[in-house]
Amino acid sequence: MVYLTPMPRQAFDDAFEADLAGIRAAGRWRELRRIEGPVDTWVTIDGMRVLALCSNNYLGLANHPGLAAAAARAAETYGVGAGASRLISGSLAIHRDLETRLARFEHTEAAVLFPTGYHANVGAITALVGRGDAVFSDQLNHASIIDGCRLSGAEVHVYPHADAGALDALLATRSTARRRLVVTDSVFSMDGDHAPLREICRVAGAHDAMVMVDEAHATGVEGPTGAGLVEALGLGDAVTVQMGTLGKALGAAGAFVAGSEALIALLVNRARSFIYTTALPPPVVAAVDAALDVVEREPERRARLATIAATLRARLAELGFEIPPGAGPIIPVITGSSERALAWSRGLLERGVFVQAIRPPTVPDGTARLRVTLMATHTDEDLAHAVAAFAALRDRL
Ligand SMILES: *Cc1c(COP(=O)(O)O)cnc(C)c1O
Repeated sequence: MVYLTPMPRQAFDDAFEADLAGIRAAGRWRELRRIEGPVDTWVTIDGMRVLALCSNNYLGLANHPGLAAAAARAAETYGVGAGASRLISGSLAIHRDLETRLARFEHTEAAVLFPTGYHANVGAITALVGRGDAVFSDQLNHASIIDGCRLSGAEVHVYPHADAGALDALLATRSTARRRLVVTDSVFSMDGDHAPLREICRVAGAHDAMVMVDEAHATGVEGPTGAGLVEALGLGDAVTVQMGTLGKALGAAGAFVAGSEALIALLVNRARSFIYTTALPPPVVAAVDAALDVVEREPERRARLATIAATLRARLAELGFEIPPGAGPIIPVITGSSERALAWSRGLLERGVFVQAIRPPTVPDGTARLRVTLMATHTDEDLAHAVAAFAALRDRL
């Protein structure tokens, strides 16, 4: 037997510190905040009450009493954990019932739950394409899509943001790939703009490519019944894979993929991030079911969100901030440099408004920003407070 002298732990820590120094020097240092109390329109940070303008809790459902009660009842009835993956002993009746409901919600034949949106994207992309295939991905797609593409082993072609013409040209060059998959966010997470889904579906259709749409920021927000942008545009028949999340507007956690019976059966058999992970906890499943009740019965939440988003966009632009064109509850306020994004975020926090600075590598170099997001439950007084804080920031600049 040969025993190697173990590397002293200090040497590992020294290496970690060297990496961290590089992250700091690049202006990319990140730190977790300690936020007290319930997830609501106002939260407490360091003992200070501040207006939260940075969650993805678009409909204000994360602390909705109906969802909390449903979760508590499910914990009493079923317990807290599912106890195993779905294919072992974790596939409960409530999972199947929620999948049936989500398929109906999305106007598709079937749906399957995943523990998170990250799992759903990685699992679906790797199940659908592999070596010898090609995947075409928008330049600003979410990190989980990027990781799914990389892990799939397919050739990855990144097309310029929202550019269906460039996608068309790229698809034409890869006509010999065995399978082709086009994948895009519907509402882009850091920009809030919409993918040109009609054009993308037309182009993909002309090249016999599959289309996968990530509706993480559109589920519960867009469309006549809140099913997403695919519903809003009537593109259900042109989209192969509809992915949505349950932890943003729907206020709980988890995600789903909706589509044909064959697609869903393939994911159950092949998506490793579905097969090798514990099923969603029963209280989460029950909370999502209650969230869908609210989405069905209270369309006024979606309407309110759209109205206040338009108002705040207009007010921030009037104040002279750089707001790219768009609509909806994600409002990017471009700062350019990471340092400025951090300084503006600190300045707003001092004025009682909590907005996160978003920096590279989450967004491209030179496009650091504040990412302002709204909730349907923000009041008119909340909006006035936000506008006053931005106005004070502008005056100081
Ligand atoms: C948040 C997000 C995900 C990941 O969803 P989680 O449930 O938070 O893991 C995937 N895609 C997009 C576009 C997202 O914004």
